[in-house]
Amino acid sequence: MRTSIQVGRLLGIPIKLHFTFLVILVLFILGFANNSSTEYRIPLGLGDLGLTPLIRYTLSAITAILFFFTLLLHELGHSYVAMKYGTKINSITLFFFGGLAMMEEIPKSPEKEWRIAIAGPLMSFAIGALFCSVYIGLNALHVEFYRPAEIFVLVIGSFNIMLAIFNLIPAFPMDGGRVFRAFLATRMSFVEATKKAVLVGKIFAGMMVLAGLLKADPIIFILTGEWGYNIWLPLLAIFLYLAATEEEKATITFASLEGIKVKHVMRTDRTSVSEYMPLLELVRKMLEERTAEYVVVNDSGDLKGFITITTVKKVPVEQRHLLSVSDVMSPYDSIGRLISNEEESAEALKIMIRDKLEFLAVKDDKSGDFTGIITRKDLAIYIEMLSGRF
Ligand SMILES: [Zn+2]
Repeated sequence: MRTSIQVGRLLGIPIKLHFTFLVILVLFILGFANNSSTEYRIPLGLGDLGLTPLIRYTLSAITAILFFFTLLLHELGHSYVAMKYGTKINSITLFFFGGLAMMEEIPKSPEKEWRIAIAGPLMSFAIGALFCSVYIGLNALHVEFYRPAEIFVLVIGSFNIMLAIFNLIPAFPMDGGRVFRAFLATRMSFVEATKKAVLVGKIFAGMMVLAGLLKADPIIFILTGEWGYNIWLPLLAIFLYLAATEEEKATITFASLEGIKVKHVMRTDRTSVSEYMPLLELVRKMLEERTAEYVVVNDSGDLKGFITITTVKKVPVEQRHLLSVSDVMSPYDSIGRLISNEEESAEALKIMIRDKLEFLAVKDDKSGDFTGIITRKDLAIYIEMLSGRF
């Protein structure tokens, strides 16, 4: 299922909107158009300014879009520094809880990681300081200004300051947590540092749940001067908890594959079928060999495509006797599905995760000939064995 749409590019990075982002956008616009401007310490609405609904909603939409644009600038801050270190940014996605810059790889050097992590909050601080000083300047000079515009400047300014502070909480995988991990990683192994940072992140997540449910949310306190409930905080905490767990697992996985090459994990038997093989024969072969994936070759052994049990299952049973492998295989057209046997197996896993593939064909580094296949399943079993968990 496609859950996000690309809306453009900035610095060459595809910018995507996740469907949950549209929910928060609508909530923001509705709230801002109807809240009173004096209810909170920061004016969080245009509802009591005597504006017509059309103007109220238009101004709210502009404020929302510009606020989310500054969120994008926060992510671009991270991305810019990461790109300077040679890391590719696959995309930036705005979703319910903010933005996410998807990097090809998070640099393992602590020096690089903390610089990338701090760049986002610094960007938010800079934007916040700029807008807040415009607001303070206007007030100090007693400039009579269009009140909705003043509110707009103050909201963008204060939200960005809050965004910067909130992101600096050392709750991994938030920015502050990444800075914390980088700090730890100068003293211990990357995996150990990740485990410790994740633990601290989980403790923070637990505190956020309690703060939200036990009427102790600091954000509500800042806005209203009173302690209150905040149902969004536990939801954000759950999201952070899951993200931290996920990243801990991935870090351990990749670390355990270090130094292990494709040739150590690849399979050299049950690797290929002919493109002319009838589909029914392939199904029999798959069952017999208990194998779910094959490379497809022609008579002279050249790579023609890839076929998996998942692809075969998509073909209606009554049509299977009419077709052969070449009719349903995914054709071999990209070099990305071929990897050298001397390459790191972690690299193979990265490609398979990125391109959502179950396996890659392996070529011999010297001769360039097809020599085997490497599958996600085999790698998973290998990692299980390495970690001694059976
Ligand atoms: Zn950030």
